[in-house]
Amino acid sequence: MLRVVDGAVKKAYNGKRAIHWKEIFAGEKAFAKYGNYLPKETPAQIAEFRISIKGPLTTPVGGGFRSLNVTLRQVLDLYSCIRPVSYICGVPSPMKWPEKLDIVIFRENTEDVYSGVEFEAGSREAQRLIELLESMGKHVLPGSSIGIKPISRERTERLVRMAIQYALEHKRKSVTLVHKGNIMKYTEGYFKKWGYEVAVGEFRSLVVTEEELWQGASSEGKIIVKDRIADAMFQQLLLRPDEYDVIATTNLNGDYLSDAAAAQVGGLGMAPGANVREDVALFEATHGTAPKYAGMDKVNPGSLILSAVMMLEYMGWNEAATMIRQALEKTIVQKKVTYDLARQLGDVKPLKTSEFASALIENL
Ligand code: NAP
Repeated sequence: MLRVVDGAVKKAYNGKRAIHWKEIFAGEKAFAKYGNYLPKETPAQIAEFRISIKGPLTTPVGGGFRSLNVTLRQVLDLYSCIRPVSYICGVPSPMKWPEKLDIVIFRENTEDVYSGVEFEAGSREAQRLIELLESMGKHVLPGSSIGIKPISRERTERLVRMAIQYALEHKRKSVTLVHKGNIMKYTEGYFKKWGYEVAVGEFRSLVVTEEELWQGASSEGKIIVKDRIADAMFQQLLLRPDEYDVIATTNLNGDYLSDAAAAQVGGLGMAPGANVREDVALFEATHGTAPKYAGMDKVNPGSLILSAVMMLEYMGWNEAATMIRQALEKTIVQKKVTYDLARQLGDVKPLKTSEFASALIENL
């Protein structure tokens, strides 16, 4: 990713611009160097320097330390995880018309069941909570683990506001609120309610709701705001992908939905993302550390490269961003791809990560 970005910036601006990279440590590398998976300087520097890009970080399951990714998002209040998912020509896909999917997912990043309010089965805290719930007439099986799912008006509003602003700035057609409010009425259901309230309360002249359309209103020059129940949304993206555009959703729904959507256009190796608040942006690949491939110079750097494209666009360096996007597409059309895409294309010899980068640089 570094070689590709530096190569594109050099070429696009004839050496008049350059990125001065600064390495900030997190995860296993930070542990080896400082004995700490997330040194306190790391979030402080991400906030100070304002634009950063990171590789994935390992998180143990069912114990051990808390996800560093989730911690970074929460400590820095990077409340919106933005994941564009669209088709790049030449990428093998299980879909008949993968190009019909062109969405941008805004996933709330700080609350929901990811807020870290969890109590282990058998702990004193879990027991006390179960007793408290019993006293409020709610029965939870003794000995259960318990997780809390907070969804607030304030955090829902700012996420949905950012999604609508994005849709307006990028001339998108609709914003869909995805929720499971039919079951979790006061959390997911209120995400929907507060989401619509922001839409009509703050953007009245610029939006029309789907319900208003049913009653005869016109959508001319306006963004349509609609909502879908999360489970139905998965099949909608498969069966009617072109009816969706910008999506605003809660943390867990967004996590699931973005991986599923990525699979429709070539898989996790090609899915970029960013964690943002108004003044800080941390770009990152959607995928994890793929531990079985670590150190093998094998995995697809496409996700991180496309995250860097988002970063360059955020910086306003659109010429370099466009150059990378076009070269990436050209490289894939030439069937110069890493193992994941080669596997789907069949009869193609996979390139290593570094060889793919070199091929892309040649195509800049
Ligand atoms: P994963 O690392 O994303 O890998 C799952 C599978 O996705 C891989 O086995 C591979 O599929 C495919 N894949 C992932 N990255 C790829 C790439 N660059 N190119 C091609 N294929 C790629 O998910 P995981 O195994 O569930 O999680 C591993 C660790 O990463 C965990 O500790 C998890 O917590 C962490 N994680 C971190 C982040 C983050 O830092 N933002 C995000 C998710 C997970 P095949 O086996 O089919 O080749």
